[in-house]
Amino acid sequence: MTPDERRAALEQIANEVRGCTGCRLHEGRTRAVPGEGDPDTEVVFVGEGPGFNEDREGRPFVGRAGGLLVRLLGSIGWEREDVFITNVVKCRPPDNRDPQPDEMAACAPFLRRQLAVLDPAVVVTLGRFSMGTFLPGARIGQVHGTTSPADPETGARDALVFAMYHPAAALRAPAIERESFEDVSRVPAVLLRARELRAGQPDADGVAEVAPEPAAAPELEAEAAPEPAPVVPSPARQPAAQPVPSPAAMRPTTADPAADDASQLTLF
Ligand code: URA
Repeated sequence: MTPDERRAALEQIANEVRGCTGCRLHEGRTRAVPGEGDPDTEVVFVGEGPGFNEDREGRPFVGRAGGLLVRLLGSIGWEREDVFITNVVKCRPPDNRDPQPDEMAACAPFLRRQLAVLDPAVVVTLGRFSMGTFLPGARIGQVHGTTSPADPETGARDALVFAMYHPAAALRAPAIERESFEDVSRVPAVLLRARELRAGQPDADGVAEVAPEPAAAPELEAEAAPEPAPVVPSPARQPAAQPVPSPAAMRPTTADPAADDASQLTLF
């Protein structure tokens, strides 16, 4: 898909969201909130559903939780315009109550289609309901800060899912806010790993090993040189990766079939 085709497909979905009457949430909405961001990003953040401010503006994460999301992104050198931000449900649940299973089910095709168009390398889930969409049965206290392969049924056909607490929860509890800053600091490494996997470079055991726990702080030395600042990858879509040649394709060919004897294989 070209960037223009991607943009047009996302706008088509957004228009359908704005006209949707598929569940009771449309009755109370001021504006539906389809989502927004860079159509050419490789990173999609998925929240729960619009709140008061989002319902008035028709844009995701523009209230206090959005302010924290922007600070979290800023801590890794990214801006909200660099990624795509959307929600599990696109209309505000009354009084910000939890979205109900039938409401999430009614809205699910929109998120699935957005992900199919965006084809992200990384989906960052924000909060329990988003996590539940991608990691059914998981517990946020256990999986936040960890990475799992996305089920292609979600629409993200080739992505890693990275779970985080919801920014609103972080606003209520300083410990969760601290953990959220730790968690988000791993997202650039998750993106790099996802790109490797998409280019066909799994670990030996095929398991994505992403961002190990930071090592214990070394003893301070008087002359310790400062660590160079890590280079943070841009979340912008990379040019299509060249497929990694298979070992068979790397075997030299020869015009003389007799020369292609088994002893040559020991070279490889
Ligand atoms: N909370 C969400 O989950 N999504 C928003 O868009 C805003 C607040």
